[in-house]
Amino acid sequence: MNDVISRAPAREDRNAWAESGVEDLGGGLHRIPLPLPNDSLTAVNVYAITGEHGVDLVDAGMALDLARDRLAEALGQLGYGLPDIRNFFITHIHQDHYTLAVQLRTTLRGEITLGEEERVNLAAIREVAAGRREPGFIEMLPALGAAELAGQVRAALTDDLANPAPSLRWDDPDHWLADGTLIDLPSRSLRAIHTPGHTRGHVVFHDEAGGLLFAGDHVLPHITPSIGFQPVINRQALSQYLGSLRLMLALPDARLLPAHGPVSESTHARVNELLAHHELRLEQTLAVASAGPVTAFAAAAALPWTRRKRALADLDPMNQLLAVGETAAHLEVLVVRGQLARVTSPEGVDFYSQAVGR
Ligand SMILES: [Zn+2]
Repeated sequence: MNDVISRAPAREDRNAWAESGVEDLGGGLHRIPLPLPNDSLTAVNVYAITGEHGVDLVDAGMALDLARDRLAEALGQLGYGLPDIRNFFITHIHQDHYTLAVQLRTTLRGEITLGEEERVNLAAIREVAAGRREPGFIEMLPALGAAELAGQVRAALTDDLANPAPSLRWDDPDHWLADGTLIDLPSRSLRAIHTPGHTRGHVVFHDEAGGLLFAGDHVLPHITPSIGFQPVINRQALSQYLGSLRLMLALPDARLLPAHGPVSESTHARVNELLAHHELRLEQTLAVASAGPVTAFAAAAALPWTRRKRALADLDPMNQLLAVGETAAHLEVLVVRGQLARVTSPEGVDFYSQAVGR
């Protein structure tokens, strides 16, 4: 347990990166994986930038006692403690990145910085947490032709109430971060770059001099990030995501420091793979919808899912929800490209078919 990981994890073990410990990335920078029990992501990476002045963290993990203790232990190995944290620079609003920062700030001095475009999501999360509305990803399902799935997802979420998740605090950050802001730390400078897609206010932190990209969930090495799985739904999430990927290619290539998965040497290599994945998926989605009109649900049912090419019906309700949302996002890109047309029925269901004249 808790050995310092001195080498990159072996390629054949896809989960080695998630094992507890501290990976020394040089120059006072350390990768600390924190646990996400009951989550297929397994762990979330917190990056500690250390120096004489203390510790600055990129992402904070989930507000769980287990994660807080692991973080304290890891910082202890480096000669610091939780009170030495000066800043939490958070890539996006999802609970596995944001909530431990909020919890720690109730007793410690660390200040939280979050991309300013997450304001809308944070407000919506509070509404959902207070029981005043449903998450947008459930509200959207009837329009996607998946009203029945909405019922199943509600039932699954109600089952979850039997073993409740920790109660999370959703307080405001101390600082809302604007696109392009340069954060000058004692040991390095980070440029915040707005990368909407995974969430609308996602930011990455680029250390140009150090050749590093703190990518959050924007560029992940093993999986394609979910698109627009956020409380406030946005039809253009995938168009924005593809734009945010191309933005990475306009920067000098950098070492990829992802929030889930191991560190790798080239951000550009992975960005090109992700772009190719989505182009293939767009082609497949276009083929299905060209025989339409289809709803996003019907199109998702005609496409293969996961690396094992499973059928939509074989996924659990939450994964079906992600799959249908993902399909809708691809259909909307094809509408923007003029290859498909969307018509909304009197009942409010969106149907997609080949654009006239093509
Ligand atoms: Zn995440």
